[in-house]
Amino acid sequence: MAIGSLAGRIALVTGAGSGIGRATCAALSREGASIIAADKVGKNAKLTIQSLKGDVAQNISVEVDVKDSSSIQRMFGELKKCFPKPPSIIVNSAGITRDAFLLKMEESHFDDVINVNLKGTFLIIQAAAQALIDANTSHGASIVNIASIVGVHGNIGQANYSASKAGVEALTKTAAKELSKFGIRCNAVVPGFIESPMTDAVPVKVKEMVQAQIMVGRFGKPEEIAEVITFLASSRSSYINGTCIEVTGGCRL
Ligand code: NAP
Repeated sequence: MAIGSLAGRIALVTGAGSGIGRATCAALSREGASIIAADKVGKNAKLTIQSLKGDVAQNISVEVDVKDSSSIQRMFGELKKCFPKPPSIIVNSAGITRDAFLLKMEESHFDDVINVNLKGTFLIIQAAAQALIDANTSHGASIVNIASIVGVHGNIGQANYSASKAGVEALTKTAAKELSKFGIRCNAVVPGFIESPMTDAVPVKVKEMVQAQIMVGRFGKPEEIAEVITFLASSRSSYINGTCIEVTGGCRL
């Protein structure tokens, strides 16, 4: 992709303090976008902004809890003061796991994962799309959600997480149908197994078993997901809408 293809664009990335979100901020910034790094832990979002090269004056970090609509409204209020227009690239990368076998899973852990991964994605889409429509700047905007290959196939110990990610796919397709009339595209990336703090806790034996199912023979890197997100964010993907793109290294779960 040509350097500067996102010049003049403003990108909001949730979960920006870590892993795929942080790598996405770097890739979008490299292409010239101004970055709003949003995370539950403000200091991690700040570290992401400090790690960016180029004109840091155009980038900001904000604290947000994506499962809380009032926190999101506060964030959009702050953004109004900092930028002349709302973000036209929205990447929903905030996510959590609370793994347990289905028979042992606590109800609160089921709720937590659905609330962050699925409801959080919905609330950000709703607020971001409304801001764009109100400002009359929605045409050409792109929303990119992060689903997961385990939402396609299911995964032992992840009833909550796999259900939340299957929901993200359906939400993506519905959002695309409803928002396309405003010129907003909505797609999802469906990663396989990616090296990040989220997968650091997976036991080595399980990692080896998973790796044996991946054609490329290794876990992916956050940067490899960020490149696809950046493509979906840009006008180079202008004819891709309402779809979910698997980026798994060829994972045969
Ligand atoms: P990560 O390194 O754990 O990053 C997720 C970030 O989201 C963390 O900074 C986390 O903060 C933040 N977050 C959690 N709850 C939040 C909330 N309520 N509001 C705002 N921010 C919140 O994980 P990752 O691997 O980069 O994952 C990014 C996305 O990709 C997630 O949606 C994940 O489900 C998805 N994904 C990951 C993989 C993988 O193999 N890594 C595969 C498929 C899909 P804390 O650290 O404080 O919780």
